[in-house]
Amino acid sequence: MNDLWESTLLRLQRTISPEAFESWIADIEFGGLIDGQLTLRVPNSFQLEWVHNNYESLVLELCQEEARYTSHAAPTSIALTIDADLQARATAARSTEPARAPSQRAPLSSIQGGRLQTPTNGLLASRPSFAPHATFAPQSTLPQPPPVADLNPMYSFDNFVVGPSNQLAHAASVAVASSPGTRYNPLFIYGGVGLGKTHLVNAIGHTVLANNPGASILYLSAERFTNEFIWSLQNHRIAQFRERYRSHCDVLLMDDIQFLAGREQTQEEFFHTFNALHHANKQIVVTSDVYPQQIPEMEERLISRFQSGMVADVQAPEVDTRVAILRTKAAGEGIQLSQEVAHYLAQVVKSNVRELEGTLTRLAVLAKLRQRPIDMDLAREATRTVMPQLEQITSVEDIQRAVCEYFGVRMADLKGKKRTRSVSHPRMIAMYLCRERLGTSYPDLGSRFGGKDHTTVLSAYKKIGRLLEENDDKVLDAITAVDRKLGL
Ligand code: ADP
Ligand code: MG
Repeated sequence: MNDLWESTLLRLQRTISPEAFESWIADIEFGGLIDGQLTLRVPNSFQLEWVHNNYESLVLELCQEEARYTSHAAPTSIALTIDADLQARATAARSTEPARAPSQRAPLSSIQGGRLQTPTNGLLASRPSFAPHATFAPQSTLPQPPPVADLNPMYSFDNFVVGPSNQLAHAASVAVASSPGTRYNPLFIYGGVGLGKTHLVNAIGHTVLANNPGASILYLSAERFTNEFIWSLQNHRIAQFRERYRSHCDVLLMDDIQFLAGREQTQEEFFHTFNALHHANKQIVVTSDVYPQQIPEMEERLISRFQSGMVADVQAPEVDTRVAILRTKAAGEGIQLSQEVAHYLAQVVKSNVRELEGTLTRLAVLAKLRQRPIDMDLAREATRTVMPQLEQITSVEDIQRAVCEYFGVRMADLKGKKRTRSVSHPRMIAMYLCRERLGTSYPDLGSRFGGKDHTTVLSAYKKIGRLLEENDDKVLDAITAVDRKLGL
């Protein structure tokens, strides 16, 4: 894969200034391309940060372009790693060479073996027996993999609010935590973002540890597993990697497994990790944003492993659970929250719990800034900033309801077939607003308005649009009032 990097270097050299190329890019070495991750070695942390901040996206872009031309597998991400040995070599080279002006850059043809070797730097001459990096590097200078992330102390069963939307996942998690490796192995929890999956797996970890402080628990995301795996391969530490995940682990909590989609080598590694642990009756808990079968580009044998234990979902919480979550969070953080405000927030923020928490935090900050208690006015103000994600917080039903209220028509009529103007006009306005504010599709709106044809919705949308262009006062008033009612 070195030739892909070589040609990317050539492109970079043509794209950025010679000074910049020489200073930041020339001594970067190709470290590998595995599962779409292009690893590049840089000599030190300063250069790493600089390249990361200034050139990473350009490098990725050019490399992807180059891959398209040369029908190589294209990288999807870049990992920069520090290679202390590079620094040592650069220093050694510098001490044996005369000072080199940046403009004296290497001719294009001298880019060899994945790194740029300038004819003047004496690198090859001063090290005639130059060996490949991995064997050349003394062990002590090898970078160490980052330690596995700790459990998040904030996520316990105590502060997890149980409702119909997460009952099953919660019960299964509690069961697994009280007797790991016996029932429900693996436990597979799936559901959309911000619905409590990470919270639950952390809670499992805490409980297992509380019952058995000596237990070895590994909690990590599939992304981290992937990075460590790649790192271990490249640094000849795969034996240690396997020992850690297969032999020294009592409970493996693997978050966001969907990250492995399309990453064949990492999937293969995880498959063997899974089997080793399962065989030894060690507990495995996996989370995902979708049902096992729906993870794209996932090996069938892994999917069937995931389905072999317990599969539980977490859904968006219903309004009562949202209120309870808000009250729990508020109590935990010493925020005074009335039932009325909790209800209001739970009505406005429906998408996920993380969003709900964010709104509560914003409200608390606002109250502090203004030095006033949290009341409805403040709550309305705090939720105004949530408005960009309209489709998540305002639904078609909300608009229909607001339009019904404004015009004094019944919901059944709004969705019904009556063609009298007193009903058809509000109906058209509601359709227009849903399309304009939420972007809902015409066919979808047709069915949400009592099974109408999409052309009916389209012509309503056009008609109201026309009236607005003509500054029709009544339509303008209605729309302004409904918008205001919905806080839009
Ligand atoms: P996911 O991993 O599913 O994306 P998280 O577990 O990170 O979601 O949850 C997002 C936030 O919402 C976290 O701060 C978590 O504590 C909180 N949360 C989610 N569900 C609940 C719940 N049922 N009770 C209390 N807090 C919750
Ligand atoms: Mg998560």
